[in-house]
Parts: sequence; structure tokens; C-alpha cells
Amino acid sequence: MTGEPRDDCLFCKIVAGQIPATIVRETDTTVAFRDINPQAPTHVLVIPKAHYRDAAALAEGAPELAADVLRETRAVAEQEQLDSYRTIFNTGSGAGQTVWHTHAHVLGGRGLEWPPG
Ligand code: C5P
Repeated sequence: MTGEPRDDCLFCKIVAGQIPATIVRETDTTVAFRDINPQAPTHVLVIPKAHYRDAAALAEGAPELAADVLRETRAVAEQEQLDSYRTIFNTGSGAGQTVWHTHAHVLGGRGLEWPPG
């Protein structure tokens, strides 16, 4: 929960440019890139550059950085010209989290049902 990069983290490697990603936005503290398995016409992940395992750890350890991530979800939606969109943080394996570096999914471009599965 320190924010230090981890050698075994896929998204830390994307931040470091060690594995490719289609980056759509970048700030001093965040990166936004297209999900490799899109679930909607727009499916972008917004991550903090610093490593926090999930949204709860980010909120606890670096609340200003959590705000940066949220601000960027809005910026992605605007850039992608989405009127409506959904921002999701899967937190914990039971909620579907598979990558243990905080990421906000930004989904849009189609109707989204509620409740999600
Ligand atoms: O919330 P969850 O942890 O399941 O989301 C991880 C997301 O990371 C998945 O939607 C997956 O498609 C995406 N991913 C990616 N690029 C990778 C590995 C995973 O966009 N190289």
C-alpha cells in the first residue's frame, strides 16, 4: 500500500512502458488506456501511476491521487464524447477484480443495464 512500483504488476509495467497499451490520456499522476477486452464501444481503464492494490487502498493511502483518478474518468468521458457512462472499481476477487493495481473502468457508447451482474 506504499505506492511503490511492483515488478510483478502488469499495470506498473504499462506505466513504465515495458508492455504496450493504447494510451488515450496521461497526466503526471495517472494513465488512461483502452481495455484489451472491451465490454462496450468505449472501455477505458484509468489508473494511478503509483501502485495501490485496489480502490480501498488508494482511498486510504492517497486520497488526493484517488481524486486525480476520478477527475480523469470524467476527462476520458468528455474526450470520448460520452453523454452517459459508468465508472466501476471492482474491489476484491468476489467483485471481479483480476488485476491488483487500482483501475477505474470507464464504460460507455451503449445502453448499460442496472443492476450489473
Ligand atoms: O476489474 P478487473 O481487475 O477485472 O479488470 C482488469 C481489466 O484489465 C480487464 O477488463 C482486462 O481486460 C484488462 N486488461 C487490459 N490489459 C492487459 C490486461 C488486462 O486492459 N494487459
